[in-house]
Amino acid sequence: MGKTLRPEFTHRTNEDGSIQSYCSQCFATVSDAGDPKQLQSAEREHRCDSRLLEMVEKYRSISRLRSVA
Ligand SMILES: [Zn+2]
Repeated sequence: MGKTLRPEFTHRTNEDGSIQSYCSQCFATVSDAGDPKQLQSAEREHRCDSRLLEMVEKYRSISRLRSVA
């Protein structure tokens, strides 16, 4: 488990027309290029930062505890 995990990306269009792409796993900004091709290759090359993933995991477990309480 984990090795075949493909990160998903959330896109947001900026006011200037460029597209910002976030990784939905580690929440890093992958690209904010205006060129969709550049964006796609940045997404392909993205590897989640394990330190960021750890932080996200910690945050998630904290908010899970809070929502249960
Ligand atoms: Zn990532």
